[in-house]
Amino acid sequence: MKEVNIKLISAILVILGISILIWFGNDKDALVVVLSKKKDFNLKVEELIKQNEDKELVRNENFKDKFIYLEFQKDNECFSYFIDTVTGEEKDFFAYVKEDKREEFNTKIQNLLYLKYPKFIADSLSLEETQKTYQILQDELFIYYDNSVIEPQVFEKLYLGVSYKEIQNCLDFAVSSSEETLEESGYSYDKNKKSVALTFDDGPNGEKTNKIVKLLEQNKAHATFFMVGNKMEYGKETILNVLNKGNEIGSHSYSHKNMKRMKIEDIMSDEEKTKEIFNNITGREIIYTRPPYGNINQKIKESLNTIFINWNLDTEDWLHRDKEYIVNYVMENVSDGSIILMHDLYDTTVEAVEELLPKLYAEGYQVMSISELAQLKGKTLEMHEVYRSIKAD
Ligand SMILES: [Zn+2]
Repeated sequence: MKEVNIKLISAILVILGISILIWFGNDKDALVVVLSKKKDFNLKVEELIKQNEDKELVRNENFKDKFIYLEFQKDNECFSYFIDTVTGEEKDFFAYVKEDKREEFNTKIQNLLYLKYPKFIADSLSLEETQKTYQILQDELFIYYDNSVIEPQVFEKLYLGVSYKEIQNCLDFAVSSSEETLEESGYSYDKNKKSVALTFDDGPNGEKTNKIVKLLEQNKAHATFFMVGNKMEYGKETILNVLNKGNEIGSHSYSHKNMKRMKIEDIMSDEEKTKEIFNNITGREIIYTRPPYGNINQKIKESLNTIFINWNLDTEDWLHRDKEYIVNYVMENVSDGSIILMHDLYDTTVEAVEELLPKLYAEGYQVMSISELAQLKGKTLEMHEVYRSIKAD
């Protein structure tokens, strides 16, 4: 009885063994996979290529036996995959950043984001949950960001090009970096984008002026501040702060009187006084004047050696003292080349600027000083002329 059982079991085992051999005999690789528990990364590569059939495969590269880098493109968009050559699994790019260097890597990326983009965008893009696509290029790593998470929503393509020179020591795979690669140089104005000049009258006004300067800085924007001569001496630090952050300052007369009701000699001597005070504080010259209330006539124009800057977009922030009103008014009336008038005197103006700058950016506007707008538009502003907007010819 026992002997029969053993024979029967042996027979079954032999048949089973033969079956297994026949099963895998046709596919030696599959047998190896089963025996070593090692997955074949080629299977994953094939699977992904099939999955992305509708796109163009532009890279299929083995990075020093660490991972296979697959890159597809469609409609100018990049789709990348990292397949581990040991496990055959698809991994996140971050798996190939050295574990003890991940914090350093993140800090570097974050700094570059704030260098390139306004704060409201950099804040969103720095969040861990923001979707990113990593593209491995010859000399740099490109990171593309999902822009649907940003408020107000922006419609431009958001990306960072990071030279390997900056991150080489953080990466767990070898890359080459040529000497010519430029590091991220930060934000710069673009001739092809819509541009406006923002102007603030009646300062310097200490805390409120400085808050506006900070908001401008956070939003990669500049402005021109038209300051009153008799207030300048009490606001030296504010004046220097305004200038140090890339803004400019013009004259708004010495004592904010209506020039049309003044004697020409008095207008001229007041203007000289303002210029002198400014020069003593900063060592710089004033080249623009905004007459109080925008009031000007031919005689005043001819008498002062200055460029007159008025506006074509008056927020009437002194009258409304209402953030929503100011923001809506600007967004509904702004156009390329506008000169916007505000006053750095009111909390509601500061609040409006805080909301307005991201909105203008999101709508494709660059915000700058009068000189920057003139330069970008290729316009030479002339002495004795009055400008209400600055547009290219
Ligand atoms: Zn004024």
